[in-house]
Amino acid sequence: MLQKRYDRTIEEKWQKHWQEKEAYKFDEKDTKKPIYSIDTPPPFTSGELHMGHVLSYSYFDFAARYKRMRGFNVYYPQGWDTQGFPTEVRVEKKHGRLPPKEFREKCVEWTGDMIVRMKKQMMEMGFSPDWRYEYRTMDPDYHQKVQLSLTKMYNDKLVYRDKYPVYWCPKCRSAVAKAELDEIEKQGRLYDLKFTGPDGEDLIIATTRPELLYACEAVLFHPDDAKYKQLQGKKITTPLGKEVPAFADKEVDMEFGSGLVMVCTFGDKMDVMWMHRYKLPLYEAINAEGKMINSGSLDGLKVAEAKKKILEELGDKVVKEKPLQQMIKVHDRCNGPVELIASMQWFADIKSTAKKTKELAEKIEWVPEFGISYLIDWVEGAEWDWVISRQRIFGTPLPFYLCECGETAAADEDELPFYPEKAKGKKCKCGKEMTPETSTCDCWVDSSITPLVVAGWPDENKMKRFYPVSLRPQGVEIVRTWAFYTIYRSGVALTKIPPFKTILLNGNVLAPDGKKMSKSLGNIISPAELLREYPTDAIRQWAALSGAMAKDRPFSYEDIKYAKSFLTKVWNAARFIEGLGKAEGKPENLSATDRWLLGKLNTVIEECTEHMERYEYHCLMNKVQSFFWHDFCDNYLEYVKHRVYTDAPNKGAALYTLNKVLLETLKLLAPITPHLSEELYNELFEKKSISAGKWPEAGEKDEEIVKKVEVLKEVVGRIRQYKSGNKMAQNSELNKVRLSLPEEMEQELLDEIKQINKVKEIETAKGEFSVTVV
Ligand SMILES: [Zn+2]
Ligand SMILES: [Zn+2]
Repeated sequence: MLQKRYDRTIEEKWQKHWQEKEAYKFDEKDTKKPIYSIDTPPPFTSGELHMGHVLSYSYFDFAARYKRMRGFNVYYPQGWDTQGFPTEVRVEKKHGRLPPKEFREKCVEWTGDMIVRMKKQMMEMGFSPDWRYEYRTMDPDYHQKVQLSLTKMYNDKLVYRDKYPVYWCPKCRSAVAKAELDEIEKQGRLYDLKFTGPDGEDLIIATTRPELLYACEAVLFHPDDAKYKQLQGKKITTPLGKEVPAFADKEVDMEFGSGLVMVCTFGDKMDVMWMHRYKLPLYEAINAEGKMINSGSLDGLKVAEAKKKILEELGDKVVKEKPLQQMIKVHDRCNGPVELIASMQWFADIKSTAKKTKELAEKIEWVPEFGISYLIDWVEGAEWDWVISRQRIFGTPLPFYLCECGETAAADEDELPFYPEKAKGKKCKCGKEMTPETSTCDCWVDSSITPLVVAGWPDENKMKRFYPVSLRPQGVEIVRTWAFYTIYRSGVALTKIPPFKTILLNGNVLAPDGKKMSKSLGNIISPAELLREYPTDAIRQWAALSGAMAKDRPFSYEDIKYAKSFLTKVWNAARFIEGLGKAEGKPENLSATDRWLLGKLNTVIEECTEHMERYEYHCLMNKVQSFFWHDFCDNYLEYVKHRVYTDAPNKGAALYTLNKVLLETLKLLAPITPHLSEELYNELFEKKSISAGKWPEAGEKDEEIVKKVEVLKEVVGRIRQYKSGNKMAQNSELNKVRLSLPEEMEQELLDEIKQINKVKEIETAKGEFSVTVV
């Protein structure tokens, strides 16, 4: 007997059962079933799942559960993205500054605790990975694979070390990639500075960064700007007395300030471009600590202090200043402003390989299709190579050696995993002993080989079986990072094969007010909080409805409340059916309404199968909810009450239809609401997992009966309205009803109306539709 209400106790029971029975085990020995493999996103180990995780992870859990029901051997590993700056910050806060080795150990320990918490939450969400294939990017065997991939790329000249401008976060004291930048609007000031032209005339140049004046190496103007034509090739004197050349350049904005621009190496990325274009000397004005260098009296000052000081020193050479709204680049992890500084870093060549990356991306199926455009735009807009080194401790060590003479070398394969403190050493060509690199990898270097790691790379036999993976699910906001870096590294650089067949994108969850969820706005909704009030299967339904078409959507309490009441609806219907029992075999005498409902069911099955194939979970959910709630509960259950409570000759047909529709609906729902489906399947139908049962197949659709019963529905509805309008019980008898119908109605249907509405006699006439109780 089913318990009275559906609640979390049922869900907890099944979660425990699935773990104990290893219900979602990938069968390694099976060679017959086709494999469906998922390159799941390894979440960063913050210790807590957020709504974005819940949405994204539900999304591919639906796919996994569906594919199991379609007879696939589903390979669904789950990993953890463990290394990164936020962990260092938290560990340092707890333990203070420690020597690197000890510090790393504390980070590993802390991360282990975070994983335990997140894993528990994943199980509470009913996610069904095979935990035997869990991986953590901080483990030596994962390091080994990352490092092997890098030494291979180094040997293929795709990874190199160079002095180059990189975005630098002085706060984190590390290089950061372009993809880690956020832009924020800030109130700044614009200063008009007085330069001197070749004939001693005043030239005004507007800048927001007077503190970079020492690094000024050229002055530019637009070729169409008549005011400055005569300057081409001449020397201009900066307010500091330094002579710099003037050039005409099409990318100068004539409308900004006076139309003249000073080029400093480097204020922003345009400066870097111009530096290359005009072969200007690289003048470093800011160091890794964010302090001024090579800048006279400004040396040693922080940028903001330096700005104040130079403005004082320039005196009347600052002719005007005014406020200016400007966009400044900040580091996404710490929100601190980033600078461009020249620094020796490791790079991966993404520029010369851009074409190949696009080609491989085009061989992948993108869901939705337009998702690829984010990648193409990003690849085409890449101005320089990917800086892959970070000056951090808790990260995968870069497996390289450096020499004083400037030479670099990769660690030997048998030296991997490589740790600088344990490195065996290497002799340089120049004869000197090389030193091991101490920088670590950007986290995306770790996570851009997940499809290789789950496919068993570099083992060729395993690769043949598992590579490329079937599905890469991910958030749309990380196409330019995770998808791009993976296609580039796992595909272009290491295998030449697209790493996945399909990439499924989901959108972001916004706060109910449509804003980004953030601590400072206090509008965060946490999964843990929701789980106190709503069953997992309600939250999963919300996810099915929310992730569609890679769009960002505000979180909706209405959706989740509706989902919860839908669970109650299904539960109550199941209890009703349980109380009635089952029919023996398939009966011959199905009534018109039975055939109508079964016909509708077949349509729903057919359409929902299409939706699942296309990852259109929201369509499936809408269809099943509407079918079950309205056609089944609101209508059909009312139609059969007169049969199931009596010994009507077609009672068996009703029982058959009720059970059949419930069973097939449970199967359609099983990927989305696995707990509810599992419980009802086991209690009412078969004592085994519903995921082992087959996905329903659509039978014949009797379209004619569907059309006919639509008229019956209307008539039944009108008579019910009449009764409730006259405060009559629905089972009270009526003597006579007169129907006026545009088309004749078959006797079978008229008889059914009589039984459903308890009407003794029905009189029919041809005419406009009307129902009159006489
Ligand atoms: Zn930072
Ligand atoms: Zn050397």
